[in-house]
Amino acid sequence: MGVAPDPLSRYWDVATDSFVGYARYLWHDITEPSAHSWFYVLLAVSAAALAAERLWPWRPQQPLLREGFWLDTFYLFFNFFGFSLVGFAALSDVATIALRDALAQLGVGALTAVDAASWPIPAQLAVFFVGRDFIHYWVHRTLHKLPALWRVHEVHHSVREMGFAAHMRFHPLETVIYRSVEYLPLSALGFDLDHLFYAHLTALIIGHCNHANFRLPLGPLRYLLNSPQMHIWHHAIDLPEERLRRHGGVNFGVSLSVWDYLFGTAHVPRSGRDEALGFEGIERYPQRFFGQLVAPFRRR
Ligand SMILES: [Zn+2]
Ligand SMILES: [Zn+2]
Repeated sequence: MGVAPDPLSRYWDVATDSFVGYARYLWHDITEPSAHSWFYVLLAVSAAALAAERLWPWRPQQPLLREGFWLDTFYLFFNFFGFSLVGFAALSDVATIALRDALAQLGVGALTAVDAASWPIPAQLAVFFVGRDFIHYWVHRTLHKLPALWRVHEVHHSVREMGFAAHMRFHPLETVIYRSVEYLPLSALGFDLDHLFYAHLTALIIGHCNHANFRLPLGPLRYLLNSPQMHIWHHAIDLPEERLRRHGGVNFGVSLSVWDYLFGTAHVPRSGRDEALGFEGIERYPQRFFGQLVAPFRRR
């Protein structure tokens, strides 16, 4: 009979394993490409968005390599891979195990309440996609409503010229916040995570489009799906005082716009093509990565 390792050394082993495991995964993803290699998927979706901005620009006077383009390109890779590589993968694996241990102490064995993994794959994809987007809508509203969280989210709103890569300009703490909130509800449904590639891919494509410098006329589908014409208002400075007071902003939907129409936060008064973007005092906001990383914690 072996001696059970003490919890701290177990957590330490989990952390180092995930650290090395993620580095190996990323290396494999880059050096042995497949149709599901996120590194190349991200490159391909970004290249397609850039080409569409070049071919059908909404603001023709805006340069293709607009203000903030390279900063956003850095964020794109940092928030997609770099943050996991420098510790988020390890942190989230340890947090998952610690949570399961704590629940086991309370007598809760399995987190899964519904066996979604046994459903047909299209049903899993649809429920996962819509459920996760619903959670993201409310998290996003909260990021605008609570002052401490707004300071974290402000990074995403520091974009002054809009283009597809602005999608991934956000403080890495947002990843921690969103993943933590969605973890329990999504675990309770017990999805088969291997099948969810297409749900994540759809979210990536829609997110790039929402920020891109092209129009996407959706017709009546605009009441369901978010679009560049709608999301630009989310970034506009000039919003009705009453909306700012009540909700801290407008158009909080991430992939879907339907939540904004259902919960009274939709706002598309006219074409937002030439709206000034950002927030009050943006001229004084740092426009480099490290400045933005510490900005939420600095006194103003
Ligand atoms: Zn926002
Ligand atoms: Zn945005």
